Amino acid sequence: MEATKQPLDDVLVIGAGVTGIYQLYRALEEGFSATLLEAGDGVGGTWFWNRYPGARFDSESYTYAYLFSRELFDEWEWQEHFAEQSETERYLNHVVDRFDLRRYMRFGAKVTAATYDEGVWTVSTSDGNAYRARFLVAATGVLSVPFFPEVAGRDLFGGEQQHTGLWPASPVDFKSKRIAVIGTGSSGVQIVPVIADEVASLTVYQRSANWCTPLNNRPITAEEQKQLRADFEAMRETLNTSVAGFLHQAHDRGAFDDSDEERVAFFERMWNSPGFTKLSSNYLDLMFNHDSNKQWCDFIEAKVRGIVEDQATADKLIPDHRFGQKRPPFVTDYYETFNRPNVDLVDLKATPIVRVTETGIETSDGAKEFDIIVWATGFDFGTGALSRMGIRGRGGAALADHWADGPQTFLGVQTAGFPNFFFPGGPHAAAGNNPRYNGDQVDFITDTLVYAREHGYDEIEVDPEAEERWTNMVDAAALQAPFGELGQYYGTNIPGKPRRYLLNAGGRPKLFKEIARVKDTDYQAFRFSSRQP
Ligand code: NAP
Repeated sequence: MEATKQPLDDVLVIGAGVTGIYQLYRALEEGFSATLLEAGDGVGGTWFWNRYPGARFDSESYTYAYLFSRELFDEWEWQEHFAEQSETERYLNHVVDRFDLRRYMRFGAKVTAATYDEGVWTVSTSDGNAYRARFLVAATGVLSVPFFPEVAGRDLFGGEQQHTGLWPASPVDFKSKRIAVIGTGSSGVQIVPVIADEVASLTVYQRSANWCTPLNNRPITAEEQKQLRADFEAMRETLNTSVAGFLHQAHDRGAFDDSDEERVAFFERMWNSPGFTKLSSNYLDLMFNHDSNKQWCDFIEAKVRGIVEDQATADKLIPDHRFGQKRPPFVTDYYETFNRPNVDLVDLKATPIVRVTETGIETSDGAKEFDIIVWATGFDFGTGALSRMGIRGRGGAALADHWADGPQTFLGVQTAGFPNFFFPGGPHAAAGNNPRYNGDQVDFITDTLVYAREHGYDEIEVDPEAEERWTNMVDAAALQAPFGELGQYYGTNIPGKPRRYLLNAGGRPKLFKEIARVKDTDYQAFRFSSRQP
């Protein structure tokens, strides 16, 4: 197809997820001309692609939503404390239409190359178009490239194969079919209980068990809707300043400050509390004291053994890592599902997959036949999308080469050698309630663009020293993370990927501190220049 050359925008945003929509809004609000490119044919990012049955928030809906507009907050009534995917997708479409953003969006426009030259980014898309802008903001997320493990015979399977992160728009028909689900991370444990009822059989292939605790979701009552609106300003203040972007208050005691009876009663309250409360409001030393952590793990283990009737299955469901060492999923009826006669669990550590066959899956224990295989095997986390977009900065240097040993960034927003290129919500962004942290980054990027415009600059590039300082901080803080681990955030699931911590282990307080320092020092962390006369 003939490439159509577009006019020069101030800002080109990539990705119509939560972060990209906000970046487009902020750029337009500040009077920049802007266009947004989206690979999918709709709005939502994660909430567009991950439409598998059971996909829902595990951050409270109203804390995940945008907080920049009081009117928007007032007019959208979330139905549940933890909204399901379809509601979130509807919400994001509502935001886009309410703020008249859709006309700036181009769908079906997957970025295939982006090159910087003489102050201009030229971006090519899969639909044969080319776009040009001074500033390029890739809001492509950390979980947007689905990962299929290299399993022999995967292409031979004659049935249907789906990946949770690439779920089709038209419903998958599970009724009376034989289903395999591979992977028991947050996605796998969400889909399993939801489809179990309608399928003929469901076999869950688990490599690592996870510490799953109840999400405790429920509808938001009319009284709670009123209260949320009354509390909006206080809630916004808490969310905008909290370490991980949650409302939950930290506890004030260590696990052994309580007697055995008090501790069990407290854990019982945690078990019955919503979502991430079990992490953010649990005992202060839970994530740093092995003995405290073990108390909580023992409590969960007893719960699992109480729910799952077959103790051989329960044995397989007890993890061999500590709570918090992997990102803990929050579930609805997950363990209960294994009491159904049509559901069974395969422990891949005991009986690994040998290959996929034309009719099913063969492990070291034998073969089973399936109609559908669901790959809930995760993503090329952190750098997956950015390293595949063909981004070339100063002198034609490829971002994929620049980050061959892992990402180097300043604040998780820029990298040296790639002027006018920003990537909020990407590598070195924070774990926690992501829209809050990613929103902080978008606000900072927008402030930086405004600063440059006010001073007559049109080229912004981070100082390599600032980048080194931030990257060293991330690497050092990662060693302080709970038990020095959180393996999945190192990208260890991807064969051959360098082992580097891919989030900002220092969290939001470090980001806030460094942003304040940038502003106090007149943006010295960046090199600014003017290309236009
Ligand atoms: P994930 O956490 O990376 O889990 C992938 C699963 O696939 C793991 O159980 C993994 O086992 C397994 N796996 C990977 N390679 C395998 C192989 N070769 N053979 C067998 N099993 C294999 O991916 P995810 O569940 O999609 O979640 C990713 C992230 O998305 C989460 O951490 C979370 O941040 C986010 N998420 C959030 C929600 C929500 O509730 N809001 C829902 C879904 C996802 P190992 O553990 O042994 O590697």
